[in-house]
Amino acid sequence: MGAPKKKTTRLKRGHRRSHHHVKSGAFVKCDNCGELKIPHSVCPACGYYKKEQVLEVSEL
Ligand SMILES: [Zn+2]
Repeated sequence: MGAPKKKTTRLKRGHRRSHHHVKSGAFVKCDNCGELKIPHSVCPACGYYKKEQVLEVSEL
């Protein structure tokens, strides 16, 4: 097995890990109202999914 000759510096390690971040957590923005919602699910705020209203949401 090849072993690294030099310890990776904080800078190089940081540059490498700069791509490791996840874009979004467990939420995406709703296409219709922009609220955060769970991916691949009906938006709880407006009842839309795939640009169609599938749930009746009572307006307050
Ligand atoms: Zn929505």
